[in-house]
Amino acid sequence: MEVVAGIDLGGTAINYTLITREEKFLIEGLCEHPALSKQGPEVCLQQIEDGLKIAADLAKIPLTDIVAIGLDTPGPASAAGQLSAKGSTNFVHADWAGFDIREGLARKLGKPVSYLNDGNAGALWGHFTIFGANSKETSVSIVIGTGLGGGVIIDGNVVKGRKGFGGELGHVLIPYQSIPGIEGMKPNCNCGRLGDLESVCSLTAIEKTFLPYFLPKYPGHELASVDRSKAAKMVRGMADRGDKMCREIFRVQAHGIGLFLDEMVNTFDPDALIIGGGALEASEAFQKWFIEQVRVGMPAQREEQADIPIYVMPNGDTAGSRGAAIEALKLARTSGLA
Ligand SMILES: [Zn+2]
Repeated sequence: MEVVAGIDLGGTAINYTLITREEKFLIEGLCEHPALSKQGPEVCLQQIEDGLKIAADLAKIPLTDIVAIGLDTPGPASAAGQLSAKGSTNFVHADWAGFDIREGLARKLGKPVSYLNDGNAGALWGHFTIFGANSKETSVSIVIGTGLGGGVIIDGNVVKGRKGFGGELGHVLIPYQSIPGIEGMKPNCNCGRLGDLESVCSLTAIEKTFLPYFLPKYPGHELASVDRSKAAKMVRGMADRGDKMCREIFRVQAHGIGLFLDEMVNTFDPDALIIGGGALEASEAFQKWFIEQVRVGMPAQREEQADIPIYVMPNGDTAGSRGAAIEALKLARTSGLA
């Protein structure tokens, strides 16, 4: 049986999945192994190899059945998998600077390896859940977490870009001033931009911009006395339960997404728009309300495009490894391995 592995290398854990050539996943939930990336490439690549054996055992397949590997990591990294020479939050060890992690892993395992950054891997997973691995469709995915990641899939292929920054959707400017109810708000992003998508739509935005802006308008609100970073994490749950201020915060975020997706509709005329991440790990009723608000925030579309579907992305925790596996499945198919 030919199998392809997906390996999601995060800050603290490596997550594995395995997929057959018939596009069936052999591991249901999370299969994790400690990442040890702080100890540099040599230790970390050994960890990846050790964890892969555990994953193969879990799926009851021999390691030799694995014909290709898909790797995804946080960026910044080149489209081909060379980590930034300036280092990054997740790869602090000096030996990581400029390290070609895709090539390093291919050499270590003696198998072909494909590479995606974690945002693009998540986007490819979302795309796959709707269109499968052999699709020719176009989709735009956004994943709302601490920041805002995502990706663009055109005709079934991930847009990686010239320097690996394709699909950095969080830093696209949106005309946020047109959202009602936030007069005078100044959403600043860590990247230095004012009013990009991440500055309006992320956990960081809730902590840095929304709570300081809205709490004074809701005197006596219970989140006023809670530590800001802890309070930010409570907003989604409270919005789900109907708290007025928290709903208002999510309404503004949804309208921001609507403005952004309108830009995407006019740029790509995509087949699907997909929204995922922690912000939507809530009740189905809340998800439905949120998507409705995204539509409310979108400027009117041409008649031909008005029915564009907006999906909620499933399986948050395994999205990275599964997206990486799908990229590797394509590699295996184009090189005749699967
Ligand atoms: Zn930004």
